[in-house]
Amino acid sequence: MFENNKIFILGMARSGYEAAKLLATRNNKIILNDKNPDQDKNHIEELKKLGVTLIFGDYNLDMLNGIDYVIKNPGIKDSHELISKAKELGIPVINEVEMAYRLLPKDITLIGVTGSNGKTTTTSLIYEILKNAKLPVTLAGNIGYPLSAYVKDIKSKDILLMEISIQQLCNFDKFKTNISVLTNIFDAHLDFVGSKENYINIKKRIFSHHKKEDLAVLNYDNKDVLNSTNDILSYKEYFSKNNTNAKCYMIDNDIYYDNKKLISTSDILLKGNHNYENVMAAIIVAKRLNVSDEVIINTLKNFKSVEHRIEFVRELNGVKIYNDSKATNVTATQIALSSFKEPTILLLGGLDRKHSFDGLIKYMNNVKLVVCYGETKNRIKEFCDNLNIECIVKDTLVESAEVAINNSIKGDVILLSPACASWDQFKDFEERGRVFKEYINNK
Ligand code: ADP
Repeated sequence: MFENNKIFILGMARSGYEAAKLLATRNNKIILNDKNPDQDKNHIEELKKLGVTLIFGDYNLDMLNGIDYVIKNPGIKDSHELISKAKELGIPVINEVEMAYRLLPKDITLIGVTGSNGKTTTTSLIYEILKNAKLPVTLAGNIGYPLSAYVKDIKSKDILLMEISIQQLCNFDKFKTNISVLTNIFDAHLDFVGSKENYINIKKRIFSHHKKEDLAVLNYDNKDVLNSTNDILSYKEYFSKNNTNAKCYMIDNDIYYDNKKLISTSDILLKGNHNYENVMAAIIVAKRLNVSDEVIINTLKNFKSVEHRIEFVRELNGVKIYNDSKATNVTATQIALSSFKEPTILLLGGLDRKHSFDGLIKYMNNVKLVVCYGETKNRIKEFCDNLNIECIVKDTLVESAEVAINNSIKGDVILLSPACASWDQFKDFEERGRVFKEYINNK
């Protein structure tokens, strides 16, 4: 498979590059097209040397003549002209993950994690536990490098762990996991898939080809997850924040697996009820792979969180400081605020999408001060004035962080959870988080 073929890759970035590199070693003729010529120069040179034909800018539908497969970047919609044309011509269109998957040994254990929220945290936690258990695990896909980069290294009986996005699920065909986690389903990404029904149907593809010996790890407390998985063929194990019928559940701040207490939430470094759901999902996966209680407990005691997701940065004069730069909308900030009982100084602000901040009202009880910045600063000030919460307006994040520190006392929490996208002042939320952490760590 994928040998001596003529293959068209649409979209370069990291996954198109890795796909081309892998396929070039299998004697394929490859055309790679991307409308944006601004790509990594070293990657371009490397692909040229491997004989890949690179076309930047406009494509021509005639380029599909004689093509055996089209491999597309997950971000490109099916309605794209070239994709529609390829399908009309009967050319299989798949994504990079599906292509790489088909080249893997068939007897690996593949774990896929999907859902509206919590994918990265759950996946990272599973990875940490499996690594600590000294199991042969590779992490690929959305976190780390594209799967194509690992194909030559993954051996029979290895474990492959992948966070899988809705975009990737859209173009799966033969892709099959042995263990699939569905963290939750909320109204998200509807812009990409059209309707909620469509969204749910695409999410369900994580269970495609499952049989009774394959495991589905499911959120018992999420109605859409429950309803949409009625008819899947997998063996199902549930996690729940309150229902003791689940395989893994939480009662009175203790987490139970198989009705036996495993750990108290006070011993888990991750904070917030949403994170305990991610923890329970990870426990079920680890147990399925026979990881000992001891390794699971030790990992949970030490796992610090994923960067930019309610990430503990440091304690400064008795004030705990957290970076939740990933919170680019109000819902994510609600979750962060519900994770703390301490008096909180909240840093809010960023790109103005004209979205309302009213969704935060119920979550502001512990907030003693808001410091705001960026395009939304005046709207945030108005929001706080209406709630009678003190609010200081600054221009930049760093100035806001300084004000937050100067106004904090021992026992407070300073939380960057901006409820806005970062693009008015930063390249992305990662850069925003790094700038914040650098400032805090240099204090
Ligand atoms: P994803 O990879 O799905 O975007 P992350 O693990 O990166 O999810 O978490 C992103 C944000 O989503 C977190 O900062 C938090 O606000 C929220 N979140 C994480 N886990 C959950 C969960 N289980 N349920 C609801 N919200 C969550």
